[in-house]
Amino acid sequence: DKLPDKDAAKEFYAKYEPKEVLGKGISSTVRRCIEKETGKEFAAKIIDLSSDSDGGSSSYEAVKQEISILRHVAGHPYIIELQDVFESSTFIFLVFELCKHGELFDYLTSVVTLSEKKTRYIMRQVLEGVQHIHGNGVVHRDLKPENILLDDNLNVKITDFGFAKKLAPGEMLFDLCGTPGYLAPETLRSNMLEDAPGYSYQVDIWACGVIMYTLLVGCPPFWHRKQMVMLRNIMEGKYSFTSPEWADISEPPKDLIRKLLVVDPSQRISIAEALRHPFFLTVKLQQRSFH
Ligand code: ADP
Ligand code: MG
Repeated sequence: DKLPDKDAAKEFYAKYEPKEVLGKGISSTVRRCIEKETGKEFAAKIIDLSSDSDGGSSSYEAVKQEISILRHVAGHPYIIELQDVFESSTFIFLVFELCKHGELFDYLTSVVTLSEKKTRYIMRQVLEGVQHIHGNGVVHRDLKPENILLDDNLNVKITDFGFAKKLAPGEMLFDLCGTPGYLAPETLRSNMLEDAPGYSYQVDIWACGVIMYTLLVGCPPFWHRKQMVMLRNIMEGKYSFTSPEWADISEPPKDLIRKLLVVDPSQRISIAEALRHPFFLTVKLQQRSFH
């Protein structure tokens, strides 16, 4: 692949005015920016490819793949919209729709826990977004509250397709990537055991279970100060509903979490089944009873 030599930075700054930093990754900085011609706000992910040599995770090829996947899964209400791309051999600028309310992670931190009703609202959107991603043959591999953004109406926008991968039919993956607390047991097994069968789409469903648990009580299911113990707990599916917060939480969300956090990926609930789970039907039943 020949690198384009036009000056991406110059083009970007001619069209957009950069503002404050919204978030930072290993080799990227996300800034709010304003489109000069329209005054409209966006979020620009500025990826420094030159930091690649000192261990940054972004290579030109990796970012090209992220862009290609973003375009492939575009056009869904719960998936982030990529507006514009500027690229050179040293910098890539990805211009996204702006999510004014930032990360679900920060929202959760500010409110500590979400009610069952709010959790239902968020998780339905997350699952529908992931269903759309999988329906397009893509596995996300890094679902977590930091990569779930909230727009003006507190609707979900799934973002960060930096680890996402387009799968051929029946293809299995083996590489270890994602974020420790959200890793699925089969991802860990694939990395540790010689004869493991690999992993696939179901890792995202596991991550949804971790997210849902975390939203309801404000702390993740497998956390342990020793990372090795946490990873072992994940592989054994060892978590509990014993903390005091769970006492006030009804049975349907617990039942759904139990079905999402199933160690064997072939026995784990599918997204379609999860969306039909009683936890999501509660609202409709209540509504019906009012008429
Ligand atoms: P990385 O691959 O470095 O994690 P992300 O794409 O996840 O990059 O972006 C890093 C952070 O920047 C996000 O977690 C979020 O806080 C912020 N961010 C990214 N995109 C947007 C957006 N469209 N609107 C608002 N904030 C964003
Ligand atoms: Mg991220």
